[in-house]
Amino acid sequence: MRRICCLVLFLMLFAQQALFAGGAEAASKAQITNVRYALRDGGATLRVVFDATGPLDLDATLKGNPTPRLLLDIKGVISGSVRNTLTFNGQIINRISLNNIDSNNGRIVIELPGMISENDYKLFTLPANPQANLPYRVVLDIKKASAPAPAIPAIPVYKFTQGLQNKIIALDPGHGGSDPGAIGVNGTQEKTVTLAIAKNVKTLLEKAGAKVVMTRMDDRDVCAPNASAVDELEARVQVANAGKADIFVSIHINSFSNRSVGGAASYYNQKTPYDSILASSLQDAVVNVSSFSDRGINAARFYVMTHSVMPASLIELGFISNPNEERQLNSSQFQQQLAQGIVNGMENFFAQAASAGGGQ
Ligand SMILES: [Zn+2]
Repeated sequence: MRRICCLVLFLMLFAQQALFAGGAEAASKAQITNVRYALRDGGATLRVVFDATGPLDLDATLKGNPTPRLLLDIKGVISGSVRNTLTFNGQIINRISLNNIDSNNGRIVIELPGMISENDYKLFTLPANPQANLPYRVVLDIKKASAPAPAIPAIPVYKFTQGLQNKIIALDPGHGGSDPGAIGVNGTQEKTVTLAIAKNVKTLLEKAGAKVVMTRMDDRDVCAPNASAVDELEARVQVANAGKADIFVSIHINSFSNRSVGGAASYYNQKTPYDSILASSLQDAVVNVSSFSDRGINAARFYVMTHSVMPASLIELGFISNPNEERQLNSSQFQQQLAQGIVNGMENFFAQAASAGGGQ
């Protein structure tokens, strides 16, 4: 499975293994044959019951990106007779989709209206009860999101001029403090590399006459240690929004299970006319100064790009899981090269944004 950004993606919270009602060998043959649901606790909890032909082995994973979701990976499959999509009213759940990954494994995707925490849901299994004519069951009790994601502020109209002089630039070195981000085979932590590069970018930008607002200047959580992922990301966005930044750039390093995968990629969410221009300017300039392959730009709904009001991009400079790229990312000379690439990309951005209808 592809993990798009660094473990992060900020919002990947790994749930505990769900309870198992029986042995794994029996579980591989089980099928989900029915889905039932009902509100409980005066509407505060939604109970969803999955009927199965045998005990099921499940893994639950809560994800915030690109949209809040609870994934239930099952060793077992979904019967062809079950409807594969159930749409809810969005109070607690938006939608449940049931998919077979292959002939032995299924995945239930529960789309949520807002991010929930590990405490907001319970997952347990019940054995069959032939006397009561009840099959094996997986029960999910899920509560309304206790802290819905803050609303997205109104997007101002931006007009840009060329050059870096007097521009306000928000820089977000990914992760920090209690969150190391992705970790390389040789122990390099993403949070260390992103901070070193961001500091170099800051120095270069200030030399060019820009004002820089940083989400962090040292190894710390921006919100609070072990804060919820949404709170942590919101704190970073607030630095940019409150600082009235012209652009917001979040710096990350990617990771993947296959160590041979490498390259740089940039992400954007087109909420202003300029977001994709920013991503492509950064991407081209970063690839230009490094030997890393060009993985292109991609639209994505990462929190820092959907909740910031100014043109924003999240860049994944390389893969920390790739030993060759990890080694280079650790070199201070290479970090400086990448920083120069990011600054070049910003300068190109303002030139393009100005001629694309911004300022003169
Ligand atoms: Zn990251």
